[in-house]
Amino acid sequence: MGADQKWKDYRDEFLGCEGPGCRIYQAVKVPKGWSGRGKGSFFCGICAGNKIRELEGKVKVLEEEVKSGEEKGKEEVRSFAETVQKSLEREMEGAKKRIEKESEAVREEVEKVKEVVRVEVKRTSIEEVRKKRVMVFGLKKKEGRTDEEMIGDMLQVLGRKEECKPRAVFRMREKEGESSGTRPVVVEFGSEQEKWKVLERKMALRRDDEFARVFLELDLSREEREVAKNKRVERKKQKEREEGGKSGGES
Ligand SMILES: [Zn+2]
Repeated sequence: MGADQKWKDYRDEFLGCEGPGCRIYQAVKVPKGWSGRGKGSFFCGICAGNKIRELEGKVKVLEEEVKSGEEKGKEEVRSFAETVQKSLEREMEGAKKRIEKESEAVREEVEKVKEVVRVEVKRTSIEEVRKKRVMVFGLKKKEGRTDEEMIGDMLQVLGRKEECKPRAVFRMREKEGESSGTRPVVVEFGSEQEKWKVLERKMALRRDDEFARVFLELDLSREEREVAKNKRVERKKQKEREEGGKSGGES
């Protein structure tokens, strides 16, 4: 059972600690139907701990009193003290349980935050790697030649073979039912700078027999691709509007 499933009937509530001068707010999970206080004061973990110690102190005092009461034979004092002692013990027990429950909730929260951080770190590192990559489109698989070798030849054509050495070359997986052998090849360089050095020469491919139909692009994330695509569409529309506005006769 995932944490989300477990908490579906709960919501977050911020409760202010009522410990004297404390001012801590604590996020606690409460059942969705929970209608607030009326069940006593809320103490943060620190104040609850202090409270327990305070109560323990009181219990000790009362124990002394009970003892001295016995010694003095004061029956009433003893029975009163015993009653108070029992109720204090109950209160302490409750406070202890509450702290245990709260620390459980806090642990769950921490786990959730950790997970978010993990995902974020992973995403960031992918973005970092992406910046050093070039996407190669239209490079057909060749019998007896590896993709690495062909990329080497391509870098040769671009005049960047010495400066820009790929750290990794891999072809993207074919889509289901596809076997064109022209899935994009991802080339990862050691730095962003090497990538730009390759990209700035990309037009040289147009003049080469073998690579005339090969295109180089940035390796963009899905979101970035979407943004780029929208921009292209917008530019195209703008261009059409401008051309439509002219008197015509041009072609
Ligand atoms: Zn407090």
